[in-house]
Amino acid sequence: MSDGGDSEPGSGPIRLPRCPICRKSTIEAYRPFCSKRCADIDLARWLGGSYAIPGAGTDVDEDGEAPPEQNKESPRADD
Ligand SMILES: [Zn+2]
Repeated sequence: MSDGGDSEPGSGPIRLPRCPICRKSTIEAYRPFCSKRCADIDLARWLGGSYAIPGAGTDVDEDGEAPPEQNKESPRADD
């Protein structure tokens, strides 16, 4: 029996995790993101979702119909 050895034949390239936001190479300081910016974006997604959209004002339709005035039946005052 010829022992080939346990050494793996040529270890492949190290797979560096990529930023899930912009898919750039990540930095240890901001793993798993590439920068604080992407980290903030991801955090914002977790918090509110659309919160990460800058400049997007909340469009509130002021089309609410005013509640109809209830006609209070005044009691007949017998004269
Ligand atoms: Zn990134």
